[in-house]
Amino acid sequence: GRYARLMLRSLILAASRSSQVERLVATAPYTRDVVRRFVAGAATDDALRATRGLVDDGLAVTLDHLGEDTVTPEQAIATRDEYLKLLKLLAAAGLTPAAEVSVKLSALGQMFDEQLAYDNARAICAAADAAGTTVTLDMEDHTTTDSTLEVLSRLRKDFPSTGAVLQAYLRRTESDCRELSSAGSRVRLCKGAYKEPESVAYQSAREVDKSYVRCMNILMSGDGYPMLATHDPRMIAIGEDRARWFDRGPERFEFQMLYGIRPEEQARLAGEGYTVRTYVPYGDEWYGYLMRRLAERPANLVFFGRALISK
Ligand code: FAD
Repeated sequence: GRYARLMLRSLILAASRSSQVERLVATAPYTRDVVRRFVAGAATDDALRATRGLVDDGLAVTLDHLGEDTVTPEQAIATRDEYLKLLKLLAAAGLTPAAEVSVKLSALGQMFDEQLAYDNARAICAAADAAGTTVTLDMEDHTTTDSTLEVLSRLRKDFPSTGAVLQAYLRRTESDCRELSSAGSRVRLCKGAYKEPESVAYQSAREVDKSYVRCMNILMSGDGYPMLATHDPRMIAIGEDRARWFDRGPERFEFQMLYGIRPEEQARLAGEGYTVRTYVPYGDEWYGYLMRRLAERPANLVFFGRALISK
């Protein structure tokens, strides 16, 4: 039961850091199909095509260019330039403001030069502003939380609509929600995807869920713009309830889900009149992203296992 699941999760997260496993997975015959389900493709054009399809279906989109192990300034600049190009193309295709972008500061140089990451993020925010849309800063593991929130507050001085992500599994998050629930503040609330120590994060699903609801209550009763990012039917139902209670229409909060996960539920919520935004990753560095998705839902391994076994 629970322990087997926790062990499997640790194993997958360990595999996500192994370059040997990465090679094995990348060359396995069915990998392409599995990756295709969760990732729009490698090229900017693939991202645009997926966005067009989703927008035509009545969904909003946030695009994430995959790439996490940025260790040189050149890589960080290349990531920045990819976003600048993407934003121009989105605007030219008439896909803004329906589509915005999600950015990982680590991909912009945060690990070795916070100022460089800030400068790059600022350039992306300016480009998004020119394109008539917004940027959300993804949240990564807990060692980066303070730095990311600091960069966010600097960016918001010039680009107040820059969005934050808060992770319900962190013990600090309720207090961060209070800080960020004021007018004009966009906050994506998710459970959290990294393996975190007990000192900073709740470990059991039940505790994480309870924290998610407390955080949701703070954000939905506040003055900001909550973005409820979850596939969990219980959290979604509570979100719908709070939207009614606090009288929040589709302009005043949104649901968010990942590309390829519960697409029928995304369509259902959009059909009910809610704003629903799909998070669409693209790019060739899909490995870490895919492994985090598998760790969350080992059931996907059955599907994925074929790729390894038949090698
Ligand atoms: P879980 O606890 O994983 O699942 C709960 C229930 O949801 C399951 O029991 C099942 O009923 C249903 N469910 C879940 N997955 C599936 C599926 N594949 N098929 C069918 N039913 C399913 N994490 C970060 O750390 N930083 C970020 O910046 C970040 N951004 C995100 C942006 C978006 C838009 C989303 C949706 C998630 C983001 N995450 C981020 C990931 C998030 O933290 C979780 O790891 C992830 O969403 C899984 O949690 P969950 O709330 O969906 O529920």
